[in-house]
Amino acid sequence: MDTVEHLVVGAGASGLSYANWIREETRQRGGRVPEVLVIERDREPGGYCKTVKQDGFVWDYSGHFFHFRHPEIEAWLRARMPDADVRTVLKKSLIRFKGRDVDFPFQKNIHQLERQDFIDCLVDLHFREEQFGSGEPRSFQEMLYRRLGKSICEMFLVPYNEKLYACSLDSLDQDAMGRFFPHADVDAIIRNMRQPDNRSYNDSFTYPLGGAIEYIHALLRDLPSDTVAYDESLVAIDLERRVARTTRREIRFEHLVSSAPFPKLLAMCGVEHDASAFSWNKVLVFNLGFDRKGASGVHWMYFPDRARSFYRVGWYDNIMGSERMSLYVEIGATRDARFDVDSTRARVLEDLAAEKIVDGHSLVSWHSVVLDPAYVHVTRQSLEAHSQLSAELSRRGVHTVGRYGGWTYCSIEDNLVETRALARKLAGDRR
Ligand SMILES: Cc1cc2nc3c(=O)[nH]c(=O)nc-3n(C[C@H](O)[C@H](O)[C@H](O)COP(=O)(O)OP(=O)(O)OC[C@H]3O[C@@H](n4cnc5c(N)ncnc54)[C@H](O)[C@@H]3O)c2cc1C
Repeated sequence: MDTVEHLVVGAGASGLSYANWIREETRQRGGRVPEVLVIERDREPGGYCKTVKQDGFVWDYSGHFFHFRHPEIEAWLRARMPDADVRTVLKKSLIRFKGRDVDFPFQKNIHQLERQDFIDCLVDLHFREEQFGSGEPRSFQEMLYRRLGKSICEMFLVPYNEKLYACSLDSLDQDAMGRFFPHADVDAIIRNMRQPDNRSYNDSFTYPLGGAIEYIHALLRDLPSDTVAYDESLVAIDLERRVARTTRREIRFEHLVSSAPFPKLLAMCGVEHDASAFSWNKVLVFNLGFDRKGASGVHWMYFPDRARSFYRVGWYDNIMGSERMSLYVEIGATRDARFDVDSTRARVLEDLAAEKIVDGHSLVSWHSVVLDPAYVHVTRQSLEAHSQLSAELSRRGVHTVGRYGGWTYCSIEDNLVETRALARKLAGDRR
């Protein structure tokens, strides 16, 4: 049987960053560099941060843009990609609403709506407490109605988020999107009518011209070449013996750090739990390359209209400064949905034409991928179950990280920050 100190599951941003941090943190404490093995189900690294290069187009698994809150994390990554051409972009995002383009976020730009819609939003915002009460909201939906009133919710926030999450917003925890939800109070909304200030967490973002995979290559740079075993899946974990069974072998570990989806980890550990606590959506992403340029001055656009198949469309060419329109298109669905890719692609092209995004263009290249899970449903039940079950696993040497291990809404940078904290803890634990 193989033995390793740190067995990492998944060579995405979380798994690879942990493999780096644990080596660095131990070295900094004057310790021997520990043995780290990453097992990865796929034949390539990256997880959801993979890049597809096809017919001169560069596409991710839907746009993966990097927004850093920790300058030291960005500097650490950039030091490992000296030859990459990384663009810094000031975000321009719009909402297509009844044929006009409104700045994002909707709630701060209601003055850009048609007069009657604007009046409805403003009046409902003013009387929101009378209509929906105050106090601690019980769900994401209640939070939206109580803070922003009926019209803002029903014109944008509810239809858009229902298309994305593919569930009732009433089932989600009020804080389901954490810091990623653009909160705005009445003062900020009114002030914005005269002095636009649409700042958000991803106001400016960076993107390497070679695609998101360049950040993954940076994470691989300092790891010994045999650190990652590709095409090898974790199958089961014996918590008593601290032994992992993979599709190839048994591995005894001291610590196991998993970025696999949490419900799958629970099943592999044989931990009894209520499976209904965890639900999620999936997202079908189309990357579409056209023969010539389309709209300029926009990076992505939100579509609350339920008649449109997609909830968001993004323009890679406006980020990279390239000559041909290159779009990513995202479609949310329930986790048991089945996609007919060809008919859905035809429908997407019709919808893009109806929105005049495609305007006589020819499609010259395309790619699709299903992200499953894509957005996890953060509910009260999932928060409680995750907190209790992950603490239990961690006492037994199994740590769960990343967007899907943490069953949360987060960015890639959050994944790096989280795995650094775990590495610091485990490096400090070493006797
Ligand atoms: C539509 C969409 C858009 C996004 N856009 C952005 C963005 O613009 N900016 C941003 O910062 N974040 C974005 N994110 C979030 C970002 O994708 C994640 O935070 C990040 O990729 C998560 O990395 P991870 O390593 O935790 O998980 P993953 O990327 O899912 O990697 C997990 C890895 O584990 C492997 N694995 C799973 N099970 C096993 C097993 N049993 N055995 C072995 N290997 C296994 C998988 O193959 C995979 O490679 C977006 C997410 C979605 C869904």
